[in-house]
Amino acid sequence: MRYLFDPQEVFAVPVKGEDAVYPVRRIFCVGRNYAAHAAEMGGEVDREAPWYFTKSVMHAVLSGAALAYPAGTSNYHHEMELAFAIGAEVFEADEAEAATAIFAYGCALDMTRRDRQQDGKDHRRPWSLGKDVEGSAVFAEMTRSGEFTVADQEIGLRVNGEQRQHGELRDMVWSPVEIVMHLSKFYHLGPGDVVMTGTPSGVGPVVAGDNIHGTIEGLAPVELALMVTKS
Ligand code: MN
Repeated sequence: MRYLFDPQEVFAVPVKGEDAVYPVRRIFCVGRNYAAHAAEMGGEVDREAPWYFTKSVMHAVLSGAALAYPAGTSNYHHEMELAFAIGAEVFEADEAEAATAIFAYGCALDMTRRDRQQDGKDHRRPWSLGKDVEGSAVFAEMTRSGEFTVADQEIGLRVNGEQRQHGELRDMVWSPVEIVMHLSKFYHLGPGDVVMTGTPSGVGPVVAGDNIHGTIEGLAPVELALMVTKS
């Protein structure tokens, strides 16, 4: 088979202690999974079921990237999140199957054009321009689930050294296992599927020249630099 042009390279994330990397095929994101963040957005968490939006894998970058401030926004926000990666095929999972299917955890950023997301909310339109932004899904090296258990670890984010976001993983409304149980009712999940689990409170704007540094106790940090040059 000859392609008319070179296909996109596979985006893959390093895994601690592994020579091989994890190739990503889909990125799911959970909305409003921390009550304090839902409140700062003027909403409430949904305790009946989690809900989702997606990002194109073409819009993913690795931690350490230096990107231009994106076009089409004057209110680009940081959202620090725990991501997890699926390592086995799983559909309509029960609790044990969901737990087994989680291969690894890592720090991630869900960068957001907040003004465009607000347009979507105001006009009842999709969030694509707000959320599916080029370079907006940032992934750090992941750690296998055998070496990391979600408990009360601190999750936080600093911009230019100044603390902006802070929370604990136990504040998540829906745990990773519960998310897999629910999301696998709608998708045949499998290796290559990554889920961002929502952000704690303290989201806010960044500007060109900012350095973003997100941490979760026990995981490799995630970093993003916004260059001063125009996109
Ligand atoms: Mn988010």
